[in-house]
Amino acid sequence: MSLRFWDCLDHQTFTDTACEVPYQQIKGDFFPGFDVWVRRDDLIDPIISGNKAYKLFFNLIEAKDRGAKILITCGGAWSNHIHAVAAAAAAAAAAARFGFQTIGIVRGERLAILNASLQDAQRFGMKLKFVTRTQYRKRNQSDFLHEMGLDSGAAYFIPEGGSNLLGIKGIQLLGKVIEETVPATFDQMWVACGAGATFAGFSAGIRNISVIGVEILRAGDSIFKEVDRWIKRLNLTAPEHLEKGRSGTLLSSDRLSDLRLRLLNQYHCGGYGQYPKVLADFQREFEGQVDIPLNPIYTSKLFHAIKNSNDRGGGQRGARLLVIHTGGLQGRRGD
Ligand SMILES: *Cc1c(COP(=O)(O)O)cnc(C)c1O
Repeated sequence: MSLRFWDCLDHQTFTDTACEVPYQQIKGDFFPGFDVWVRRDDLIDPIISGNKAYKLFFNLIEAKDRGAKILITCGGAWSNHIHAVAAAAAAAAAAARFGFQTIGIVRGERLAILNASLQDAQRFGMKLKFVTRTQYRKRNQSDFLHEMGLDSGAAYFIPEGGSNLLGIKGIQLLGKVIEETVPATFDQMWVACGAGATFAGFSAGIRNISVIGVEILRAGDSIFKEVDRWIKRLNLTAPEHLEKGRSGTLLSSDRLSDLRLRLLNQYHCGGYGQYPKVLADFQREFEGQVDIPLNPIYTSKLFHAIKNSNDRGGGQRGARLLVIHTGGLQGRRGD
């Protein structure tokens, strides 16, 4: 991955880079009876990895086209997205074609020593602004920047996680790249869901593989509703194609095979950022047997779900599964 698409924000360079991302087959018997492959989007860029790279790309083009001087975004203290925005702006500035200043609005109070993720962001040139959880709750309101005392005039605001229409457009591009580059025919594609924008983008970009999203937080109905809202907004597919999995009420496999999109909500392991021993043990075992590093918040829960789910392969042994590695390995330092 030597091409630096951030330097030029060129569509073709980005697409070419996405087309080079490797697919890795999991050898051995970690998933007995299933043929599991991983698309290593954690490798798309050494720093700006996984789905955040795709969600950012068109946002940066838009910011540049609008002549914005400042990128403002927000997230938690270990946010992969904040880290990615800071790094991408630094890459663009280093190429000296255009530059963005960056401001990261961080949920919670500033600790005496910044964590490794925020230290990186600061080193990449980002200014950090810490806000209370109550203030942070207003992050999706139109007057949020004003409330934070920030001038929105010259700024381009990217919402938490890069989850806006342009972010989803980047994921759609990834979906198309996947359909063009898959090394085999897959029965299912699995992805971790936080806000659900990535899953929503795949519902738009992927036509021939059923997509299963694993909710990594205790979200109630919110991810389902968010995805449904995006799908309607993108006017892509009838909402009845989206079915929610509830623990204990798995759909029968023949029904499942009719459904192109599913969200599973019983594999959050206690909620966002929760990392119980069973998950830690799983991650250690996985990384010991399979040569792929996982992120404790997202991809370890994803593979844990695949290992434990009856939905795997639509209940059909021998099924071939594609798992999207959405990156975020910088977050491992939070362990
Ligand atoms: C942000 C993130 C996700 C979740 O993406 P959404 O679009 O919010 O669902 C998944 N995996 C990793 C590693 C992430 O950083």
